[in-house]
Amino acid sequence: MQTNSVREAIPAEVSALAVGCEDLDPFALDARMGAVVRARQRIDWQTGRLLRVFLDRRLYRLMGFSSAGRYLIERLGSSARKARALVALERKTWQAPALGDAYRAGDLSWVRAFTLVPIVTQATAAAWISRAQEVTVRRLGDEVEWALCGRDGVTPVAPPPAGATLDGWQTCARTESELADSEIIFTAPASVVALFRTAIVAFTSRTEWYWLGCEELLRHVRAEWTAQPRHRDPIFERDGWRCAVPACTSRRNLHDHHILFRSSGGENVRHNRVAVCAAHHLHGIHAGRDRAWGTAPGGITWELGVRPGRPALLRLEGDRYAT
Ligand SMILES: [Zn+2]
Repeated sequence: MQTNSVREAIPAEVSALAVGCEDLDPFALDARMGAVVRARQRIDWQTGRLLRVFLDRRLYRLMGFSSAGRYLIERLGSSARKARALVALERKTWQAPALGDAYRAGDLSWVRAFTLVPIVTQATAAAWISRAQEVTVRRLGDEVEWALCGRDGVTPVAPPPAGATLDGWQTCARTESELADSEIIFTAPASVVALFRTAIVAFTSRTEWYWLGCEELLRHVRAEWTAQPRHRDPIFERDGWRCAVPACTSRRNLHDHHILFRSSGGENVRHNRVAVCAAHHLHGIHAGRDRAWGTAPGGITWELGVRPGRPALLRLEGDRYAT
């Protein structure tokens, strides 16, 4: 019986998906990979539920493991980070069952579902799920950040209007009621760690959590940084100091690109200019692999993976996948 339920979790057709893959075109390969990933999500879903029960009951202690992390690595050979994320997603679906349904059915990828965890409620689930199906993961992350900044911790927050500019969220202060929900670990020489610790303590008032002090420290650094007089590039500023090519997250080596090339009569006006990273600029756009047209910042159509005489691999309107 147990074997049957495990078999049911793995669709029979999954094993056939890799057959003949050498001969497939990119679209068919992409579709097959999507199918494999959706099948895996059904397994991940079961894993999350089982793990949650197991970890809640601290059964790893009975087995002699000092921590859940040790159990996950040693017994399951699983990444502790992924396992914790699966459990977090499973827990979230108690408050927002629609999120769980969409994830389990494969309508929402693992990354997208997990991006929604901090913000989604049952009341807002439909709107967030539908947004998550339309836009890039990068844009979805931005919108969740935006919503987290504006919330009071009680009222559910729906996604911003489609295509809205998300001004101001990058500098917002979080509400005091919010709990720390992620962990940042870094390795450094002991002297640097000690200095960092001292700085955090200096920015933490006696009754506060250290992470609030850390936030205060970062805010101070940012304020000092932005107070320095320097050249602000209006195009980079408008595009958030990030490559505008959909799904690219590069903030390094930004170039100011003319959407309609200067050589083709493109004007030097702001709506014909966009921030792109050096790699996308030189090896993507000017090598003919990527194509962009329209008006910046909101009205650019992107074609990625352009191939002579054949359709481009991906097409997006701004951060939204074109169907
Ligand atoms: Zn880029």
